[in-house]
Amino acid sequence: LPCCYDEAVRRKGEKKTKSQPPARRSRLAGWVALAIAIALGAAGWLVLVACGRGSAPGLAGSRPNVLLISIDTLRADHLGAYGAKAPTPVLDRLAAEGVLFEKAVSHVPITLPSHASLLTGRYPILHGVRDNGAFRLAETQTTIAESLKATGYQTGAFVGSFALDSRFGLDQGFDLYDDFYGDTSEFNDFAISERPAAAVLERAALWIEGRSATGWLAFVHLYDPHAPYLPPASFTGDPRSDPYTREVLYVDDALGRFLDRLRSAGKLEQTLIVVTGDHGEGLGEHGEKTHGMFAYDSTLHVPLILSWGGRLPQGRRISSRARLIDLAPTLAELAGTDPGGYQGESLLPLLGKPEPAEDRESYFEAVAFNLNRNWAPLTGFYRRKLKYIELPLAELYDLEADPGETRNLAEIHPGTLRQMGEALARYVNQHSTEQSRAIETTEVDEETIARLKTLGYVVAADRTSKRPERYTPDDDPKRLVALSDMLDEGVAAHLAGRPQEAIRIFREILKRRPNFTNVHVNLAYVLRESGRLEEAIAVLEQAMTAGLTTRTLLGRLGLYLQEAGRLQESAVLLESAIKQDPSHAEAYNYLAVTYARLGRTANAVSMLEKLLTLDSSYASAYSNRGSVYLGAREYVRAAENFRRALEIDPRLASAWNGLGVVQATEGRKAEAISSWKRSIELDPRQYDTLYNLGTLLTQLNRFEEAIGYLDRFVQTAPVDRYGADIPKVKRLLAELRARV
Ligand SMILES: [Zn+2]
Repeated sequence: LPCCYDEAVRRKGEKKTKSQPPARRSRLAGWVALAIAIALGAAGWLVLVACGRGSAPGLAGSRPNVLLISIDTLRADHLGAYGAKAPTPVLDRLAAEGVLFEKAVSHVPITLPSHASLLTGRYPILHGVRDNGAFRLAETQTTIAESLKATGYQTGAFVGSFALDSRFGLDQGFDLYDDFYGDTSEFNDFAISERPAAAVLERAALWIEGRSATGWLAFVHLYDPHAPYLPPASFTGDPRSDPYTREVLYVDDALGRFLDRLRSAGKLEQTLIVVTGDHGEGLGEHGEKTHGMFAYDSTLHVPLILSWGGRLPQGRRISSRARLIDLAPTLAELAGTDPGGYQGESLLPLLGKPEPAEDRESYFEAVAFNLNRNWAPLTGFYRRKLKYIELPLAELYDLEADPGETRNLAEIHPGTLRQMGEALARYVNQHSTEQSRAIETTEVDEETIARLKTLGYVVAADRTSKRPERYTPDDDPKRLVALSDMLDEGVAAHLAGRPQEAIRIFREILKRRPNFTNVHVNLAYVLRESGRLEEAIAVLEQAMTAGLTTRTLLGRLGLYLQEAGRLQESAVLLESAIKQDPSHAEAYNYLAVTYARLGRTANAVSMLEKLLTLDSSYASAYSNRGSVYLGAREYVRAAENFRRALEIDPRLASAWNGLGVVQATEGRKAEAISSWKRSIELDPRQYDTLYNLGTLLTQLNRFEEAIGYLDRFVQTAPVDRYGADIPKVKRLLAELRARV
């Protein structure tokens, strides 16, 4: 037999008999194992489990609690245990007490698809989630939480950012999916809602403390090292380190407090701790600042540490390749559940092997920029020491001789390059179905175009798609890095309050590369933020008629048309968006508002109900439902919905406005004023709130205060939406000024 009983575990006095055949194995595996066990006798059985079934002795079916910690954007080489100059004491200690995988790899340098792989044990080409935001993990997929829950585990998830919001489907199998990261009030193209590690860990600790002794899975997602690198002001780690490193050190520090708390509560004794990352960060290597564009080891090499006091070998470093898809089957085997359905393989056999095992092959991809920029899609795989990257300008690296991937061997070894390309094609075929690997693009259908035309909507005659049919070296991301940098500059300019500069940069990018889809979306966003709504609409319409439709673009166009009062067109586009993608959460919300403004109240409520089945923690859906009930004078139900919205997101300005209306209607004027003031504080563009505050204060004879709010209303409310109200308020203002 090729492997043997783990000496380290035996020396620690583990009982050999712990490798009982787990009760919940699949029938076939159980039969085979049992037959061979009878043939070999008890001693043979142990070895066989370790080798054939892939189990380190004593671990399969031992059902530990599992604390699965994913630190977003964490490069392996920024941990002391992986050779970083700055020590990360907490993570380094976990590694010293447990097992460290030196060559753990991610399959995609993007948060949502990578976590989908982590939780399902499958590659993106099979689970189907290829990018953030625009995908939802299908119900037909099975997460490790579902598998463990089916065997009696209690399951909780605590996520650090909107990227893993429950609406994207990773909540499958979790009793509690805590995605209350705060501000969901407004979409923002250039920043993502997140909460710091300490806040996520506080929620996780409370949940774990409430569990009985054994049988729980806690999945904890810490987002801090993701850009922008802004550790909490209270963190006083080494000020000499760069901002990214400081974020890593902050997470290490927060984790230390969390683990100490659990340890002193006795919650870690039966607990396997797994620490990993979803992907790394470019930090300028290969011209990539963040992640998502390329697939070098700067963004695919992640840490992987397993620690379980006394049960795993201590301080063991495993040099053969481990993959994120291997984690779910590892946990399933530990829990003694059916190991079926995973593309990964349990890591337990590697724990039982002191000698290096053969490196596992591993697929990877980076296709987000294909989806939203029309750049060439990147795929590739690791095979033994080689790494192959398929692009118009293909790449081949010998990772042993050149771990930094600085010498592309593609031209030196064309034969190997060709073989790797063929092997990749076979590998992809074996690990996906035609349907699962297809990347669907959004095209506006003919029926929608026809309906828009009847509304007088101008659809360009030339609808030939500007998407490349074949990708050339000019579509290779390596040649497009400069445009990525320009995009970053544009975003930075907007965030720094220089929208004109952002607009100029975005237009310049589109001149050079007109099919850069999400720059159209970004340009429209900045135009709209600058009050140039019609120009924003024009930008999106041009992109749509040029065949550059993504679901984001379609949803935004529907929203902006609604904001411009073009409600019929807005409805047609949003209906089309939902038809094409029934999991498009924003589209339901936008369409509900469009319907409500068209007076189609029942349709509006129905959209919100559908949205809340997709995502029961969608704060603004509750707020909008509250507004619909308010319109129907159902104050109790309205108030319930506003309160629910504010429980989820206390910063949701529209919900504060609605709650204020209910309070004012019920005669609780002081409470109404306080709710409305909160609304305005959170979002100065709540024009309804300005109007409400001004009129109520007028009724209360508090004229000077009223003048302040009404004046702001007149100055800032958009004419296309408030054209009828503005003259009335101006007359009222004149009267009030005459009185004070
Ligand atoms: Zn991420």
